[in-house]
Amino acid sequence: MAQNKIVYKRGNAMIEKLKSWYERHKRDLPWRNTADPYKVWVSEIILQQTRVDQGLDYYFRFIERFPDVGTLALAAENDVLMLWQGLGYYSRARNMHAAAKQISKDFGGKFPDNYQDLMRLKGVGPYTAAAIASFAFGEAKPAIDGNVNRVISRLFLVEHAVNKSPGQKAIEQISKKIIPHADPATYNQAMMEFGALQCVPVNPDCDICPLKTDCLAFKEGKVNALPVKVKKKAPKPRYLNYLVIEDEDSARVILTKRQNQKDIWYNLYEFPLIESGQELDAEQLTAGGEIEKWLGHSKFSLKSEPIRKKHQLSHQTLHAYFWRIKTNVQFLTDSSDDAAIFDVGSLEDYPLPRLISAFAEENLNNY
Ligand code: SF4
Repeated sequence: MAQNKIVYKRGNAMIEKLKSWYERHKRDLPWRNTADPYKVWVSEIILQQTRVDQGLDYYFRFIERFPDVGTLALAAENDVLMLWQGLGYYSRARNMHAAAKQISKDFGGKFPDNYQDLMRLKGVGPYTAAAIASFAFGEAKPAIDGNVNRVISRLFLVEHAVNKSPGQKAIEQISKKIIPHADPATYNQAMMEFGALQCVPVNPDCDICPLKTDCLAFKEGKVNALPVKVKKKAPKPRYLNYLVIEDEDSARVILTKRQNQKDIWYNLYEFPLIESGQELDAEQLTAGGEIEKWLGHSKFSLKSEPIRKKHQLSHQTLHAYFWRIKTNVQFLTDSSDDAAIFDVGSLEDYPLPRLISAFAEENLNNY
C-alpha cells in the first residue's frame, strides 16, 4: 500500500511535466483533432505495425472511401483489402470489416462507448480499446503500446521483460495508478508521443529530458538496458514458387485466391503456387505435373531461371521464385470474383500482396 502511494505521488508531479512537454512538442496529426471513435479506431489500427509517415496516406484514403462505420460495414471485402494493399498484416483490415458489421448488428450501428464493449469487437485488444475509450469517451484506461512500455520501464525501473507476463503486469499496474481521471486522453497521447520523440529506444537525449530527475533508469545508469525484451524466434524461411502462366499475347494470366484463413494473405490473389521446403530447379518444379493441371495438354515453355524476390515479414522470410510460363493458347477471361483468368490490365482492381504486385509492375508488359 505504501509502495502504491509512492508510485502515485511520483506519478502525479511527473505527469504535469509530461503534459507540459507534450504541449510544446506534439505533432499535429489528423486523428489528434477528433473525438470521433470511428476515426480514432481507424488510425489506431493503421498505426499498429506501421510508421506514422507511411500510415497518414492510408488513413486519409480510408476515411475518404469509408467515412463512417456504416459505410465500412456495407463495403465488399475486396474493396477494403484493396485500400490496405501494401500495408501488410491484412488480418487488420479483415477484422475491421468484421467489427464494422458487428457494430451494425449488435450495437444498432452506434459505436460502442466504453472499454468493455469495445473489447467485444473483432481485432480490438486492450491497447486499442483503451485508446478509443480514453480519446473519444474520456475513460481513464491506460493505452500501453511499445513506446509506453519503454517509458514506464525506464521511469520506474521495471526490469522484467516487457514482452512477458510479469513485465506486462508491472507496467499495467503502474499505468493504472498514474493515469489521471481528469483528461486521461492527454495523458495517453503524451506518454506515447514522449516515447516516440524523446525517450527513444537507443541513446535518448536524457540531458534535455524534463523527467530526468524522476527517472530511475537515468539515476542508475540503466537507460540503454531498458526495456528488457525476450528475443523472438528467428523468422521462418518459406520457399514460394509462383507459376506465372501467360497466354499467347501475354494479355492474361492465371491467379488464385488464397484460401487458408490461418495463413498469410487470406483472400488475396496470387499466381498458382507450389510451396517447397527449399529452392527448386526447373526439373524439380515440373516433376509433379502442376503446370499441366492448369494447362491440360496445351504446349508451354518454361524459362530455366525464375525471377527471384525476397520478402521479409516479421515472422517469416519469403523466398519467392516467379517462373514465367508461356503458352500458345488464348485464355478467355471471366471477371467473376473467383475466376482463375485475369486480364493483366485489370490486376490493379484486385487485392494483391505487395510481393505479387511488385513483380507484376516490374515484369508484366500490360500491367
Ligand atoms: S531521462 Fe532518459 S530514459 Fe529517463 S525518461 Fe527521460 S529520456 Fe527516458
